[in-house]
Amino acid sequence: MDNCIFCKIANKDIPGKIIYEDDVCLAFLDLSQATYGHTLVIPKKHFANILEADDETVAHLFVVAKKLSASIMSNCHANGLNILTNTDEVAGQSVYHFHIHILPRYDKEELTIEFTDHSNQTNLDEVYEKIMK
Ligand code: 5GP
Ligand code: ZN
Repeated sequence: MDNCIFCKIANKDIPGKIIYEDDVCLAFLDLSQATYGHTLVIPKKHFANILEADDETVAHLFVVAKKLSASIMSNCHANGLNILTNTDEVAGQSVYHFHIHILPRYDKEELTIEFTDHSNQTNLDEVYEKIMK
């Protein structure tokens, strides 16, 4: 897609530190390096986000992300990792080409992904009914 930075990396129009490539996807180092070894896995074909991508592509990307995670963790001596994909602005998506973040973790303070407990304000029965309807 025109003007998509990740399409340009996939097409090799602009450089990226590519650590893995196959027919469907490629993985390259995230410029920001939110944590040491921060890597993105993207489909070569343009999809705006995970919900737009077809199931086969999503499945393939997560399997590749899993395999790369193991080697990144081992080679970077990480103690754990987060795998996530941001979908839309409110969730922190800034590049609208589906991508999976691999974030190797070394300590708890280096990155904030905070799950605040809202259980005292949320009626689980109501949530369940809404999702199941
Ligand atoms: P998002 O916020 O959409 O989930 O993640 C986009 C990520 O892409 C960010 O972590 C950002 O650092 C990374 N990024 C943006 N532009 C480039 C680029 O041109 N090259 C690389 N390697 N990463 C980029
Ligand atoms: Zn794109």
